[in-house]
Amino acid sequence: MQHTIAKSVEFNGVGLHSGVAVKLVIEPADAGTGIVFVRSDISGFAPLAAIYSNVVDTRNCTCLGDKNGQIISTIEHLMAALSALKIDNALVKVNAPEMPILDGGALLFYNELKKAGLAEQSAPRRILKIVKKVEFHDDKGNHVTLEPSEQFHVHFTIDFPSPVVGHQEFDGAINEDIFFSQIAPCRTFCEKSQIDYLRSIGLIKGGSLDNAVVLDGDKILNPDGFRVKNECVNHKVLDAIGDMATCGFAIKGKLTAYHSGHFHNNQILQVLFANSSNYTIEEE
Ligand SMILES: [Zn+2]
Repeated sequence: MQHTIAKSVEFNGVGLHSGVAVKLVIEPADAGTGIVFVRSDISGFAPLAAIYSNVVDTRNCTCLGDKNGQIISTIEHLMAALSALKIDNALVKVNAPEMPILDGGALLFYNELKKAGLAEQSAPRRILKIVKKVEFHDDKGNHVTLEPSEQFHVHFTIDFPSPVVGHQEFDGAINEDIFFSQIAPCRTFCEKSQIDYLRSIGLIKGGSLDNAVVLDGDKILNPDGFRVKNECVNHKVLDAIGDMATCGFAIKGKLTAYHSGHFHNNQILQVLFANSSNYTIEEE
């Protein structure tokens, strides 16, 4: 059956780019609602479904936008936690154009949602079953495919120039235990040179060594190092789980990704849904 959360959950943090304080409240929602976002700082804001067709920017994160040009960015880490916990319906209220970055991964979201508990609802879960392989390639050699599988499985590969990252792969079925122990703690990562540039154009004002892994050549600048083995590729898996959740269903299928990001994750869903012979929607 579908689930929502048993009670509301509140988070207070800062936006990664703006650095301003952000309040986020996640409330229970009726069966069939899906995950919907509302800007609580804008009166009369119409609830915006967290689905791939409402994604308006994928450059540094996954960003939803409405027809009035209002946005909610960096939804992917929360979406991943909701998906791992099988929370199908929730109303997400945020008082800024950007979600709080919190720990840089999804562990705080996971822990607080888990603590709130799930409420079972009187409608069956709906599952998106991939029946035909679909793929998306960009012109830089990065690619992503979705193909049939009896469970949601992710195989992600990165090759990063920094020797502290190098070649990393994650290949496995995604379930709640794996998500909690290997995926949710993983922070976003970047090169120090990128940070200097992003700061110079007024971004990542809320970024710190508490919510991001920062690489400087062959060194990691975070004093405590990585949180889990292969933290970098596992963060890409976290992003991919969150982005795939914007299909609006739980997924039975295998995602294979090489060096891809939010843009590719969104494109593969567009390719998938462009032809109804690629998938079926089933009740669990
Ligand atoms: Zn991310």
